[in-house]
Amino acid sequence: ADKLNYVKSKIGEYLDFPKKGIVFRDIFGALTDGKACVYLRDLLVEHIRTTHPDVELIVGLDSRGFLFNLLLATELGVGCAPIRKKGKLAGDVVSVEYKLEYGSDTFELQRTAIKPGQKVVIVDDLLATGGSLLAASALVRKLDGVVLESLVVIELLGLDGRKRLDCEVHSLIQY
Ligand code: 5GP
Repeated sequence: ADKLNYVKSKIGEYLDFPKKGIVFRDIFGALTDGKACVYLRDLLVEHIRTTHPDVELIVGLDSRGFLFNLLLATELGVGCAPIRKKGKLAGDVVSVEYKLEYGSDTFELQRTAIKPGQKVVIVDDLLATGGSLLAASALVRKLDGVVLESLVVIELLGLDGRKRLDCEVHSLIQY
């Protein structure tokens, strides 16, 4: 609880960013603090080790999810792969379109990233409406990966994103 409270105390809060009426929770506020970095790593790694020790691949979302890809992969001794916005990944990819507040976007994952049956934990910095993580789990399943869980640092409870998701969800910090 001490580590969690310390990390939480370093998360930035910005009113009216990126638009009026939005309270932006900024994980980068914690990453400039060395102790918060170590504690955040410990909390994420401890969580996965206790709940999903059978994980075989970490899949991080464009772009703040990438911060945790190599970190968790090396700590857990498994591989990692990025989910990126359309057109950024080389070779054969699978795609899923997802809705934004205005319009839509497309996430992609390299076909070679996941072996059928591989057990995956999906990571991102923050869960809001859940649209991003829903698209991410659909991508993993398109390649016959097994989604053990979606793991985020921050969950915005008011948007009920968790209810839209079709997999286990864990968040360290809630607002
Ligand atoms: P969702 O798809 O759940 O609505 O939105 C989640 C995505 O939007 C995440 O990739 C996250 O990085 C970004 N996002 C939405 N709101 C915030 C916020 O307040 N702070 C940060 N850091 N990211 C946000």
